[in-house]
Amino acid sequence: MNLILLGAPGAGKGTQAEVICKKLNIPAVSTGNIIREALKSGTEMGKKAKAYMEAGELVPDEVVIGIVKDRLAESDCQNGFVLDGFPRTIPQAEALDEMGVRIDKVLEIHVPDEKIVTRMSGRRVCGSCGASYHLQYNPPKVEGKCDNCGGALVQRTDDHPDTVKARLKEYHEKTEPLKSYYEKQGKLVVVEGQEEVADTTRLTLAAIEA
Ligand code: ADP
Ligand code: ZN
Repeated sequence: MNLILLGAPGAGKGTQAEVICKKLNIPAVSTGNIIREALKSGTEMGKKAKAYMEAGELVPDEVVIGIVKDRLAESDCQNGFVLDGFPRTIPQAEALDEMGVRIDKVLEIHVPDEKIVTRMSGRRVCGSCGASYHLQYNPPKVEGKCDNCGGALVQRTDDHPDTVKARLKEYHEKTEPLKSYYEKQGKLVVVEGQEEVADTTRLTLAAIEA
């Protein structure tokens, strides 16, 4: 199954992507994680993306489209994948169509803006593997440590409230139009994000099995 996860920053796309990947045994392709990796290792692409990311703005289409194209060509993506954080603009969605990538379903994890800002303040990510946690809604088993790999949990610099507002603005302007884009293709399924991760997970699994 080839899936896309849509949703505002902090809606829980990453967490739901992991759930789906385990269930269907397919990889998650997270453009945010790929860009953060490139930033850490100081590649050319990372250098290009840095300023945009830190300002809460979208990285230019041609940069992310190239990343996704290369990633989807790898062998582990041939039996399905979950795109987490891509496409985020209409040109990105069109590029995907032009690549001949067939999409089965688009899940929108829907969370209202007023809940996003408070959610984000509690978000922590693993500095090593990128897994995401929430101090209140999805705490790690051991405080400050990743359940998967034992890495230290940190707050992303772009999770600070001012940057979150910029990211929400980008989301409404550039990403939300994708809902009608995929609705027209008959692929959009809306999952209402719940306070408890386990409740959202149940809805997500029901949506992919339907
Ligand atoms: P979130 O969904 O919580 O905003 P991500 O990790 O998906 O977090 O993305 C973080 C940042 O990475 C974005 O704010 C943006 O700068 C960049 N980014 C990730 N995916 C894309 C994309 N498809 N197009 C443009 N920029 C992207
Ligand atoms: Zn980890």
